[in-house]
Amino acid sequence: MALIVEKFGGSSVGSVERIRHVASIVAADRGRGDDVVVVLSAMSGETDRLLELAARIDARCCGRELDMLLATGEQASAALLAMALAAEGVAAVSLTGAQARILTDAAWNRARITGIEAGAIRRHLDAGKTVIVAGFQGVDGGGNITTLGRGGSDTSAVAVAAALGAQECRIYSDVDGVYTTDPRVVNKARRLDRITFEEMLEMASLGSKVLQIRSVELAGKYNVPLRVLSTFRPGPGTRITYEEKSLENPGIAGIAFQRDEAQLTVRGVPDKPGVAARLLGPVADDGIEVDMIVQNVGSRDGAADFTFTVHRRDYERARAILEKTVAALGAGRVRGDDSIVKVSLVGVGMRSHSGVAAKMFRALAGEGIDIRMISTSEIKISVVLEEKNMETAVRVLHDAFNLESGGSL
Ligand code: ASP
Ligand code: MG
Repeated sequence: MALIVEKFGGSSVGSVERIRHVASIVAADRGRGDDVVVVLSAMSGETDRLLELAARIDARCCGRELDMLLATGEQASAALLAMALAAEGVAAVSLTGAQARILTDAAWNRARITGIEAGAIRRHLDAGKTVIVAGFQGVDGGGNITTLGRGGSDTSAVAVAAALGAQECRIYSDVDGVYTTDPRVVNKARRLDRITFEEMLEMASLGSKVLQIRSVELAGKYNVPLRVLSTFRPGPGTRITYEEKSLENPGIAGIAFQRDEAQLTVRGVPDKPGVAARLLGPVADDGIEVDMIVQNVGSRDGAADFTFTVHRRDYERARAILEKTVAALGAGRVRGDDSIVKVSLVGVGMRSHSGVAAKMFRALAGEGIDIRMISTSEIKISVVLEEKNMETAVRVLHDAFNLESGGSL
């Protein structure tokens, strides 16, 4: 008999009919003899509705009372599911985060889970009950209700699964798995049977629509096997696990992309120790996240060129900061482009294969696509391209690496 944690997202519990449907899924798993702990989101739209109510009273409302308010969304869906299960003849009990002993720090609205006293949930399981835990919430050391940040119920589910040593944590939503790339860009995109935690983190730009990335990190850390699957379309979904040695020939998992990127270049800065820090320090101090960084030493009199990328919304701000730094340095010119994108090829198979980058660049060259920047990690190759080339690039790479039929290298 296995212990399974099942998490259902807001759209899966968006109406009474849907809650009944979720109850039927849980009841079926229970019928197979597994112990089930369910972790729920609030009904879709409910958290937004509560936020709006709060904003009407105090537009800057935050802190303890906001958490007190927001936590009601998950409390309601959990209680409704317990009722729906009872109606199916399944003994169930719903618990708030505090009742389930999900302990957090006191960082209101974005609390971190510090521990779970598993005995609270176990007692109910031992009494033969299916336990329904309100996601997205916990309790701090002072007994106050806290919430974990938007999308936080995925994290609740993984943490509960880790604390209970569950065999699997199933994340149900309205998507039926993780795809090789966004099916809206490549209609031949294929659902992956499995992907590693590492690959999933690298695919974050796609994956974050499927599940909260923080929960993948947590699952990797505690080795909780995840499965992403659809509430509405039965199927095996996508398993997210550690790399399995037995798996022969791991290839390319998929292609991730980020549309809203911008590039900044400083030409002709003196190539002296401390210049990179001088240029990037003020940008970071302003809270701007810098992604790719490339520096190359130009041939002329020890001058260097320096290029980095930021999110497009930060472009003007970063550019203004750079102009100031360059003026203070008395050297260099700032150039920029706010219509670039990043396309990344992701797969653990790259570790053991050479020539993946060359193949990628050849495929892009074949379409006459100009590569602006390149960066690599052990399991990822990213290129910066002009925005107009994005969809073609993703499609041509999807073909070149046979992602439609298994992802060969
Ligand atoms: N209800 C919360 C939200 O909408 C938490 C969650 O759904 O995971 O962000
Ligand atoms: Mg959600």
